[in-house]
Amino acid sequence: MRIIMLGAPGAGKGTQAKKIADKYGIPHISTGDIFRANIKAGTELGKKAKAYMDQGALVPDELVVDLVADRVKQPDCEKGYVLDGFPRTIPQAESLDQVLSSMGQEIGFAINVEVPDEHIVRRMSGRRACVGCGATYHVVHAPSKKEGVCDRCGEPLILRDDDKPETVEKRLSVYHEQTQPLIDYYSGKGCLKEVDGTKDMEEVFTDICAILGE
Ligand code: ADP
Ligand code: ADP
Ligand code: ZN
Repeated sequence: MRIIMLGAPGAGKGTQAKKIADKYGIPHISTGDIFRANIKAGTELGKKAKAYMDQGALVPDELVVDLVADRVKQPDCEKGYVLDGFPRTIPQAESLDQVLSSMGQEIGFAINVEVPDEHIVRRMSGRRACVGCGATYHVVHAPSKKEGVCDRCGEPLILRDDDKPETVEKRLSVYHEQTQPLIDYYSGKGCLKEVDGTKDMEEVFTDICAILGE
């Protein structure tokens, strides 16, 4: 089961991807998480990526394409995976297709989590991320048990720099320009599925499970 999550920043891709990964026993691959882990570890990749991420811009395709190509060839990806935050441009989608077709594989589902822009800025300003394990919360919709502290690892929760309103606006315009065209791309391949991301998290997940089956 090879799945791609599409949707604006803050649409709920990560939230749903985690639930899918748990239910179907496949890895959740988030390129944003991979970049943040590299920034934290101070790697060369992290240093390069940070400059773009802080601006709300996309990291250049060449820094992300090989990384994902290597990841999906790992043994734990044999049964499938859920890609969250990749692809984000048409060239990324095309190179993913090439990698997959060289392995005789293809994407099964591209799930577009639809949330209008008006909701996004509000949602993002309430998102909190764990500095330790990357877990995501929301101050209203998915609060941690103890305010400001991660349920999973006890580390502090922060508002990501790129979730501040001015950067969110920029990320939304980047999304419309560079990522939204993927909706037509996957529609053309016949694997696009749409869900209403404004419903509450459990309802969105129920809709996704109905698409994926079992
Ligand atoms: P969100 O969860 O809000 O959609 P992510 O955590 O997926 O955001 O990504 C954070 C940032 O990391 C993006 O704004 C972008 O700078 C960078 N990034 C993540 N994935 C990609 C990608 N596939 N291509 C280019 N940049 C990416
Ligand atoms: P993305 O990965 O698309 O950027 P996230 O899954 O991180 O989005 O969700 C963005 C924020 O919105 C998080 O704080 C999350 O807890 C919250 N959230 C996710 N899904 C919903 C939903 N259906 N209703 C309300 N808030 C949500
Ligand atoms: Zn944590």
